[in-house]
Amino acid sequence: MPLLPKLPDGRVDAKSLTLAELQAAMAELEKGSGRALRAYKHIWQRGATRFADMGGIDKASRRWMDERFGIPTLEPATVLHSRDGTRKFVWRLHDGHHIESVLIPDPGNEVSRPRLTLCMSSQVGCAMACTFCLTGDLGLTRNLTPSEIADQALQVSRTLGPEERITNLVFMGMGEPLHNLTHLIRALDILLDEHALNYSHRKVTVSTVGLVPQMQKLAAASPVNLAVSLNATTDAQRRQIMPITRRYSLDALMEGCRAFPLPHAKRITFEYVMMDGFNCSMDDAERLVQLMRGVRSKVNLIPYNENPNRDILRPSDARVKAFQHHLVSNGISTSIRTTRGTDISAACGQLGKAAQGLRIPEAASV
Ligand code: SAH
Repeated sequence: MPLLPKLPDGRVDAKSLTLAELQAAMAELEKGSGRALRAYKHIWQRGATRFADMGGIDKASRRWMDERFGIPTLEPATVLHSRDGTRKFVWRLHDGHHIESVLIPDPGNEVSRPRLTLCMSSQVGCAMACTFCLTGDLGLTRNLTPSEIADQALQVSRTLGPEERITNLVFMGMGEPLHNLTHLIRALDILLDEHALNYSHRKVTVSTVGLVPQMQKLAAASPVNLAVSLNATTDAQRRQIMPITRRYSLDALMEGCRAFPLPHAKRITFEYVMMDGFNCSMDDAERLVQLMRGVRSKVNLIPYNENPNRDILRPSDARVKAFQHHLVSNGISTSIRTTRGTDISAACGQLGKAAQGLRIPEAASV
């Protein structure tokens, strides 16, 4: 077993362990495996923060556990409510850093059921330095622990009413999830475990700038959905906005996508942030069609969320529609992401803004 993750007080972080790891760590305790299962359910299904509160476990075992394990909890620093129903949770970590999670309600329509999606962070800041993304300005401070990743879903769900349940989890918040792969995989294990948060792998999506070797490792470890932030259709163009292109060319990335062991009936989502005058021409649309050859894919167009710190403009609705039309008429299933939570700086590419002390625009375009 890898070195067990420790808390600042020296005890093991029980919330960073998978059930199997907690059971192994408790093996020396008499009936340790059963006690571990009970404790695990108390932690993840009832939100227990102390062993003392755990019913069904004898006092001596609880004390034994309490001496060795701690149960950390994310502290909410602020919760911001958008006019459109989006909620942004800013968490204060034990070392004073902040991360954000965004809860996005979607009422659904005739063809799709209502959804409540939680957009989760994987790192404090981000090292990928994509030029158009505000989180990229922060640089990387540190990786989140498995506990800090998975606890975002638990703590947000504890604020919900009896009728509400988070239906989808997307790793599209702060950070590059595949740059924190070991902790991400453990967190996914916890999120999907029926004895913990019990999410279906069909409802969990990890988004990446395209760290090709890590994509394969993720596939080997977890059956969740993959999304790739493509954002450009030639190497020269992608290099201008995504430095990772110097490491993995578009060819290498698309080869990695074709080799990705997609489970039955799944497709890779390609996110394409549309920036006016940069990557929205009909030539771009045609090159995107060509790039998608041989990959089971769907494309998600994200009209750029404008902000005072970049002079990048969002293309007109007509341009976005024309771009979508070209893809769809070439057989590529293509959706347009609705902008949500702009008034609370919760939209794509806006996370970490509060931490930077940047001005938050007053007008919301929702
Ligand atoms: N690092 C991962 C996870 C973050 S996902 C990744 O890049 O995939 C965040 C998404 O928001 C990415 O697809 C990114 O391209 C997009 N994005 C960043 N800034 C944006 C902005 N200002 N407007 C719209 N989308 C943006």
